Amino acid sequence: MNNYKNRSVRHPGVGRFLLAATVLALLSVSCRQQQPVQLVGEAQGTYYSILYYDAQQRDLQPQIDSLLDAFDLSASLWVDSSLLRRINANLTDSLDNILHTLLSHSSFVEEYTGGAFNCRVGRLVQAWGFSFKERSEPDSAALAAMLQAVNDTFSFDSLRVHKSPATEFDFNAIAQGYSVDLLARMFDSLGIESYLINVGGEVIAHGKKANGKPWAVGIERPAENRYSAPDVEISIPLVDRSVVTSGSYRKYYEKDGVKYSHTIDPATGRPVTHSLLSVSVVEDECWLADAMATAYMVMGLDWAKAFIAAHPEGPGTDAVFFIYDSCGTMKSYATPAFKQLIKN
Ligand code: AMP
Ligand code: MG
Repeated sequence: MNNYKNRSVRHPGVGRFLLAATVLALLSVSCRQQQPVQLVGEAQGTYYSILYYDAQQRDLQPQIDSLLDAFDLSASLWVDSSLLRRINANLTDSLDNILHTLLSHSSFVEEYTGGAFNCRVGRLVQAWGFSFKERSEPDSAALAAMLQAVNDTFSFDSLRVHKSPATEFDFNAIAQGYSVDLLARMFDSLGIESYLINVGGEVIAHGKKANGKPWAVGIERPAENRYSAPDVEISIPLVDRSVVTSGSYRKYYEKDGVKYSHTIDPATGRPVTHSLLSVSVVEDECWLADAMATAYMVMGLDWAKAFIAAHPEGPGTDAVFFIYDSCGTMKSYATPAFKQLIKN
């Protein structure tokens, strides 16, 4: 009642002043909202960078860091006491939610890719020197034993995993992508609708920027070696999707003039050696983009092209490959679905 009375007797000059003040206040709120919160940090032996629009401008770094720390305590091979390390050492057969999900997703991708993706390559990865152990080429008897461990059957339910004592899991090809998905779910649960999460180059974008434009993510042209500066080759508009790149040009080691890729072909037990330098996959979920990019690195371009033609509904149809042709010139091949994506 009082409010109504006050408003009705307000002096016109005061009204104009209040109107101007309200417009200014609204403008300043919308300007504030235009500015995304930007966070950078370290996790999983790499860097993350996250942008999000939040009217409350909340600092979510503590929550992000604790989610990533908890993730490492479960699925990291670099943390001595992680649950994964204890499972691999046959000290426990208990699973938590993260490892159960990683096993489920990995089993799906293994079957879908005809075995190109295989999360049981742990011992081979170590033997070829892409882990914390010594680098040395395994002899053929050791290789045969490790291949056996890769092919041994295993089973799991939501609580436990049953595996041969020789089998060691390695989720490095899928876990980082899954951790990005978990961060995305955290942002969703906090009511944040527009964000761009990048953990070590594995990216998910949700919603659009404040100016209504899609988030744009650059795909790197493979460099000559791991020390070369990144060179953005393609910019992808990304709305509610993920992009992940796997490549042999940064993660490799060189011994006696031979470059060994960190991707193992589960059929031979050896690092892949074909001319595929990198592949980027766009998918709805980051774990799937991550796993499919690794699977394509195992397949090589010809098998990957045949695979995509045989699975036109996906997942994995939106991909771009960089290769060296027979003359040593770098070329790219984009799938039709990928070309469509960058046209939009
Ligand atoms: P990414 O960088 O996502 O392609 O993952 C590569 C990592 O995945 C390697 O360093 C290994 O730890 C692991 N890995 C290697 N070969 C395979 C494979 N065939 N399937 C699944 N994981 C693999
Ligand atoms: Mg991967």
